[in-house]
Amino acid sequence: MRTDTGQVFRLEEYKPSAYRIPKIELDFRLDALETLVTARMQIERAEGTDVGTPLVLDGDGLSLVSLAINGEPADETMFEALPDQLTLRQVPAGDHFELEIVTRINPSANKALMGLYVSNGVFCTQCEAEGFRRITYFLDRPDVLSTYRVRIEADRATAPLLLSNGNPVENGDLDGGRHYAIWDDPHPKPSYLFALVAGDLGVVSDHFTTASGRKVALGVYVEHGKEARATYAMDALKRSMRWDEERFGREYDLDVFNIVAVSDFNMGAMENKGLNIFNDKYVLADPETATDMDFANIEAIIAHEYFHNWTGNRITCRDWFQLCLKEGLTVYRDHEFSADMRSRPVRRISEVRTLRAHQFPEDQGPLAHPVRPRRYREINNFYTATVYEKGSEVVRMIHTILGEDTFRKGMDLYFDRHDGQAVTIEDFIACFEEAGGIDLTQFALWYHQAGTPNVIASTSYDEQAKIFTLELEQSVPPTPSEARKKAMHIPLKFGLVGPNGEDMEWASADGAEISGDVIHLRERRHTISFKGIGQRPVLSLNRGFSAPVVLSEQVTSADRHFLARHDSDEFNRWQALNSLANDALIEAANQVRNGSAPVFDEALVAVPGEIAGDETLEEAYRALAITPPAEADIAREIGSNVDPDAIHQARQAYLDAVARSGASQMAKVYETLADDGSFSPDAESAGRRALRNVLLGLLIRAEASPERGVEQYRSATNMTERLAALMEVTHRFANSRQAADLLADFEKRYNDNPLVMDKWMTAQATIPGDGAAERVRELMKHPSFSLSNPNRVRALVGSFASGNQTGFHAADGSGYQLLAETVLAVEKLNPQVAARLAVVFRSWRSLEPQRQEKAREALAMIAKAENLSRDLRDIIDRTLA
Ligand SMILES: [Zn+2]
Repeated sequence: MRTDTGQVFRLEEYKPSAYRIPKIELDFRLDALETLVTARMQIERAEGTDVGTPLVLDGDGLSLVSLAINGEPADETMFEALPDQLTLRQVPAGDHFELEIVTRINPSANKALMGLYVSNGVFCTQCEAEGFRRITYFLDRPDVLSTYRVRIEADRATAPLLLSNGNPVENGDLDGGRHYAIWDDPHPKPSYLFALVAGDLGVVSDHFTTASGRKVALGVYVEHGKEARATYAMDALKRSMRWDEERFGREYDLDVFNIVAVSDFNMGAMENKGLNIFNDKYVLADPETATDMDFANIEAIIAHEYFHNWTGNRITCRDWFQLCLKEGLTVYRDHEFSADMRSRPVRRISEVRTLRAHQFPEDQGPLAHPVRPRRYREINNFYTATVYEKGSEVVRMIHTILGEDTFRKGMDLYFDRHDGQAVTIEDFIACFEEAGGIDLTQFALWYHQAGTPNVIASTSYDEQAKIFTLELEQSVPPTPSEARKKAMHIPLKFGLVGPNGEDMEWASADGAEISGDVIHLRERRHTISFKGIGQRPVLSLNRGFSAPVVLSEQVTSADRHFLARHDSDEFNRWQALNSLANDALIEAANQVRNGSAPVFDEALVAVPGEIAGDETLEEAYRALAITPPAEADIAREIGSNVDPDAIHQARQAYLDAVARSGASQMAKVYETLADDGSFSPDAESAGRRALRNVLLGLLIRAEASPERGVEQYRSATNMTERLAALMEVTHRFANSRQAADLLADFEKRYNDNPLVMDKWMTAQATIPGDGAAERVRELMKHPSFSLSNPNRVRALVGSFASGNQTGFHAADGSGYQLLAETVLAVEKLNPQVAARLAVVFRSWRSLEPQRQEKAREALAMIAKAENLSRDLRDIIDRTLA
């Protein structure tokens, strides 16, 4: 474990490497307890480096066995080998030399899951961001690109499968039941993309022929017996490969592409060149064990990792400050893929909900940082929603500003110009400036300035002059170490919706640059006059969520109802409803705090019932439109002095009112959506199930009985409907006999399936109200739980902390206490997972004073623990700052 040294890495201190390593040959003698790694590197002195400059290689917890220079063993005066660094003091004269390093590592003891480790008997690696230095001493930085030739040797019985990056070259038997395989990757790559897998796994095989006729052998490797659950992942992979050719002109470039699912994994998946390694949660799916959400996630993550082959692997990051260069861009690409595979408006609404749920609170709290950070203490803590999701939104805005054709030209230029390089955000932006002939200097603030911009909009209409006036004002709130902000370039898609529901034309407009349906906000304030407007329009602003801003509009609820019915932009139709519900819920939460019962507008609570049966809308969209903002969303909108109990009660009262108002209509629709027993994971079928499940939640409320939920649970033929029924019954009727029966039944059915047991854990961890922390403590003793497996920790403790607002924020501090204890226990095994878990404390200052104090105590308890890892120390210090 790397304890904190207080060292801060800064973008402005970037220096090119003094040496290059164009070629590395690795030899692994695999053994669970004692693996020998021989690394033979060709080292070149970079131009501008003085002869004799010491070579300093990165390490992390390494133990050196031997070192040789140009084939001669080096004596100990020539170098110094520490666990975290190897310094070659005497570098041979000349421009290049060969360095051979032998290290010894213990994969079984590696619980941090970085470097080489063992998961369920399978050797595997995770090297991003700085895991390669736990395997051998190296220039472990993304701008050092090498070709890799890898020889793996292992016991044939326990590891018949030996995989690495690139193409297979050779394999054969050795004495003593051992065997070997050699892999060669001709594409120079940074060390974070190195991968190795050795074990005994089953496979789903297929092939893909690229547009230019290259035949690629595809393999998805999973535990024996789970092959049938990997076919959807294979299908998603083939669709991703085709889509990237058609949409971005990008072809695959090796003879094989392999995906391996492992059960112990810190992240979702990893895009190692030609050998993606996945958390098994994002590979394994069938109707009986996976929900529609799981299927959609698998499709998106398979695509994401595959798309990295060009955006990340062929063109990589110069340094880790540029992480968004590969992540923001690749998230944008996977979002576009999912939009093409599924319903574009439904996907967009889901993306924005995710952005608001995860990135907005980050941007508005103590962990705020620019999409391209300028400093870090631990890079693992910058795999954030800001880098990924906001990074994607920034690319989407470039697309909005340039339009599809010019955007594609910019992307083509980027691929042509920088293939095989490690580059920066400036290099990326320059391609679009050139393709579009425009200056993106002000726009680039999106990469450099943290904080979610606020945009205030107000309108007026002069009937006599036929002028519609729109006033816009932007501001960016202060964030840590950035008090003053510059005005941003914010592209806002919009429409002026006429009384007939159609967009109106205007004769002329002044006060801001308007291109097509986009207003370009560049100043702090704009007053825009639209002339020749014959009737008062209703403004539909930030259509499709074209800019990731917080928009405050002075709009009447009548106008919002109008947009909800008539806006041609489906995102804004949903947004109008969401805003109406949001305002009502905030008002209701205030009423609860003042001791009165919340009262809701009858017209508002009638809307979900009307939408439920509106067959002009697709089912998935109806499901989203009926679902009110989550408790955490309402808390974020309230912003300060938050009382999670009041929000919970307000939302419950709202749902009760909606259920009462629309019950008979909803029951009819619920019946028409009944499952016919055949299952397809496609978006349309998933939409029907989503709507049916939302209606189930409202109906058991209206009926004040869990029976309809019990019935759905018992008759379900797929996990989506069974799990939804389990959740609704356990959450709404937590202490009922029926809830206990269903939980017991679920456990019995799926006890041998860890991924499904995760759902059982989550269902219970998110039961609202008293006793939640105690329930989670009990479940931590369950045999299927393990502190060392990240999926188990996230499913139980992670979902409690982020998905149970009244439980985690219990007024007595029991939730905070539980989380702090768990963070400290997990940290001893896996600092990265512990740090991610601790991030839920980020909004603690927005709570009401009593809870704030309890949260501060829990944070202080973590802070005073000795020898904290760099990962956790960084998060806690920033959260408390
Ligand atoms: Zn990625």
